[in-house]
Amino acid sequence: MLRLYNTLTRRVEELSPLEAGRVKIYTCGPTVYRDAHIGNLRSYLMADWIRRALEAQNLEVTHVKNITDVGHMRQEVLEQGGDKVIAAAIAEGKTPAEIAQFYTERFFADELKVNIIPAMHFPKATDHVAEMLEIVEGLVETGHAYEVHGNVYFDVASFDGYGKLSGNIQEAELLEAVRVEADPLKRDPRDFTLWKQAEPGRELKWPSRWGEGFPGWHIECSAMSVKYLGRRFDLHTGGVDNIFPHHEGEIAQSEGFTGEPVVSVWTHGQHLLADGVKMAKSAGNSFILADIESQDIDPLAFRYLCLTARYRTRLNFTFTALKAAQRGLHRLRNRVWEWNAAPGEGDSNEDAFIEWRGRFVDLVNDDLNMPGALALTWELARSDVPAGLKLRLVRSFDEILGLGLEQPAAAHLVPDDVKARVSERLRLRSAGEYAPADSARDSLSDAGYVVEDTTNGTRVRPKTAWERRQEGWHSYSSSAEVPSLLDKPDAADISIGVVACNYVEDVKRCVLSALNWVGDRDVELVVVDNGSDDGAADWLEEASAGDPRIRVIHTDHVLGEAAAKNIVLKQCRGKLVVLLDTSTEVVGDLFDPLDAMLEDESVGVAGPFGLRTNDLHHFHDGEGESGDMDAMQAYCFAFRRESLAGVGLMRESFRFYRNLDIDYSFHFKDRGYRIVADPTLPIALHEHRVWSELPEAERDELSRKNYRRFLDKWRERPELLHSNRGAQ
Ligand code: AMP
Ligand code: ZN
Repeated sequence: MLRLYNTLTRRVEELSPLEAGRVKIYTCGPTVYRDAHIGNLRSYLMADWIRRALEAQNLEVTHVKNITDVGHMRQEVLEQGGDKVIAAAIAEGKTPAEIAQFYTERFFADELKVNIIPAMHFPKATDHVAEMLEIVEGLVETGHAYEVHGNVYFDVASFDGYGKLSGNIQEAELLEAVRVEADPLKRDPRDFTLWKQAEPGRELKWPSRWGEGFPGWHIECSAMSVKYLGRRFDLHTGGVDNIFPHHEGEIAQSEGFTGEPVVSVWTHGQHLLADGVKMAKSAGNSFILADIESQDIDPLAFRYLCLTARYRTRLNFTFTALKAAQRGLHRLRNRVWEWNAAPGEGDSNEDAFIEWRGRFVDLVNDDLNMPGALALTWELARSDVPAGLKLRLVRSFDEILGLGLEQPAAAHLVPDDVKARVSERLRLRSAGEYAPADSARDSLSDAGYVVEDTTNGTRVRPKTAWERRQEGWHSYSSSAEVPSLLDKPDAADISIGVVACNYVEDVKRCVLSALNWVGDRDVELVVVDNGSDDGAADWLEEASAGDPRIRVIHTDHVLGEAAAKNIVLKQCRGKLVVLLDTSTEVVGDLFDPLDAMLEDESVGVAGPFGLRTNDLHHFHDGEGESGDMDAMQAYCFAFRRESLAGVGLMRESFRFYRNLDIDYSFHFKDRGYRIVADPTLPIALHEHRVWSELPEAERDELSRKNYRRFLDKWRERPELLHSNRGAQ
């Protein structure tokens, strides 16, 4: 039987069904005012593997997943001061219900794409307000809740078991919740809202015996789980962030209402991180399935990636890891495709079947050891088990893995003329005419087909979208993937480095103006196309095809600012490196003066726009002065390439550009270099769109975060300030 970690008892426990042969599961579902991100999907995948594991063992599973279609009282919504999607949709004349419907359908489509078996019920919160009110009224009657001015609160002190799920993890979270919801009407700051009076102008509201209002967040899951699964059910799942306050609240409500334990086992999935940090919209790393699909990566490669880590450990999502998963999935499917060609043979060895399958199920049952189960699948693939039996086994494994391992075999149909060309190639080969045989293979490849010679003969299949994409320009998923040329000797006089992310017109202006002023100097232009999708990438490709001085390096998604710039730093080969922002335009001879400034070995960084500070807190621009500065702004930032050996690369925790230049300037100062500005350098500044097109609240927050990173590193180093050096 399946064993799972029960957050409530803090032990791995056997899931013993309350009713023989049946298991009832409730999964906290999506909030449908936005797309589910891939972290959410990881949580739903965990629930899906649990369900598949149970069904594969002939248990009848009832699975309920709620749809939160009221974005009320969620922390994030409160913090944002409303939901932008709703605001936008309302501006377009849509109703909240239409928005919810739109994202609900996208959610269903996403689940299907990663082979999540649909739940039996997807109850919507707005359809169950009556059931929620029934529980709230019940709680008021039994003294677990109280009303103040049309609001109803759960009285935490009245429920002994409060805290049993989250234990000591709740304290910090509780403080945070109290800070966000400092509500003077509560008797105890721990009390939480069950029903809230509607403020004037609110659209989503319902009548109640306390007047018009709307339900708290936790109450929907109490109401819907009890309605669809009864007053006792087996398993409740969610992500770890649900433990407190959501599930702690749900237990208090449900048990306060029914007077008995409701859920036997609570299982929580650890988070998916992205590029090493928590996913957040503002950090640009809150990926959704469409981000994966837009790169021609199979959504099931994401499922494969999630199989490689156990649900109780964090998993770091990177596109590099995803591409590795895509390759793994592709190889495995290809094997299955080969076995398909030779079925029948040896597939009736019942003892071997039972043994392999038993090993597989044991791994899955061991607290969902999916990495082990995947490894066993590969062990089978590499073993000398006959192909027919491999096929039978892998089919039964895939009922739980859900990777669609046989999908390509069905899609690998090829037209007759292609088959004829394959036969012709075989004929050439067996006649020893290898060169024509190879060119026949190449022409099939150009036509989009892969010819593979296997031990079972030659087979042909259409290339996958992913394989076709690999034939286009290469793109990197991280700066770590890009080789460093820093230890190579200089190969040009000047490298001009640009990071381009959309705004194709700005990119053109910047690149062409720089080339206009390089004269006949020996330059290279290293442009990182940082995940552009507005045509900037194509323009750069064309420009570089027509001008060998331009080199374009693509990334497959938008990397953080420091990571993108580090790609420039690792790849440039010029003696002098000039980093330009795409908002700049070179309007005169920039390069001779920069060269002259950097001839002085004590100068590390040169550029037009310097910054000074006396206290590390207030940076002000050089105000037209020239001379020593504390930092150089990123618009134009020049240095000798050789200095990188000591200075190093930029810190990639800086995902946003702001304050990264200050931080990097301090790296130079830390190595004893001076930062020198000349405001007469011929650079014109245009609108800086990354700044101007970001909502104010977002850019403030991002700037603040980066500033904190800067201070954490440099606050104890006031001796680096130019003002302090002058005084010595
Ligand atoms: P929400 O739409 O915010 O209610 O979240 C839906 C589900 O996804 C909940 O079970 C969350 O606990 C879970 N979840 C949220 N963020 C992540 C993440 N980064 N990784 C894994 N699961 C998550
Ligand atoms: Zn829930």
